[in-house]
Amino acid sequence: MNERIKILGIPFINTSFNKMIEILQGKIEKEEKAFVVTANPEIVMYTYEDAEYKETILNADYIVPDGHGILLASKILDKPIDERVTGYDLMMKLLELANKNRWRIFLLGGKAEVNRKAALNLTAEFPDLVLAGNQDGYFNTDDKKVACEIAKSNPDLIFVALGFPKQEKWILENISSFSKGVFIGVGGSVDVLAGEVKRAPDIWQNMKLEWLYRLLQQPSRWRRMLALPRFVIQVLYSKNQKKD
Ligand code: UDP
Repeated sequence: MNERIKILGIPFINTSFNKMIEILQGKIEKEEKAFVVTANPEIVMYTYEDAEYKETILNADYIVPDGHGILLASKILDKPIDERVTGYDLMMKLLELANKNRWRIFLLGGKAEVNRKAALNLTAEFPDLVLAGNQDGYFNTDDKKVACEIAKSNPDLIFVALGFPKQEKWILENISSFSKGVFIGVGGSVDVLAGEVKRAPDIWQNMKLEWLYRLLQQPSRWRRMLALPRFVIQVLYSKNQKKD
């Protein structure tokens, strides 16, 4: 059993990136299901606003620390998490393994053109990849038939890019239609795969400035990004509460 570290009520798995990959590889090989949430500070703050969303992600098998903000919070709370496990890195490594092991991939989400481009880029980058299917993310998410259709393509790995909270809610509501599969909410990673949005270069990531790079690329996100300072304040507050 891997250790879980709670940050503002959200239990993060404390493991290395490689170990996380090993765990998910095991799930795929045994044809077991798994629900993975790649949670950043924005997601944690959102659980304060939407109780149903909090309940949803508490149903996940693994909540991984996506972002330096989560690691910083774990340090502030004196329960340091070993390593960041970002949704994008997880997706790329799993795609590499899928290419090697002929796992079946389904790519769900993004605008029609973005989804199509992302699928094309994937098959170009990973020539042996078995694409079970792909579909844009603008459908009626209450329609259970969509999941049944996807399940028919028998995927081992389903990347769900509907943005939070939609993607996690969709996974929880529909995972029962599948007999196997690792489900990961990957948010805007489909835009990166399609080449629409650039991921922050390593130097920005190492300086822990990925958020700034993202803001400069998509300035319309500024309001959402206020979740970051609110998150740090909330973590400091929760630490003080515990001391009292
Ligand atoms: N998206 C989608 N269906 C929706 C809403 C969003 O497919 O109903 C897609 C959107 O086009 C984008 C991705 O979800 O490609 C991630 O959106 P966003 O940047 O808001 O999510 P985040 O990365 O913050 O989770």
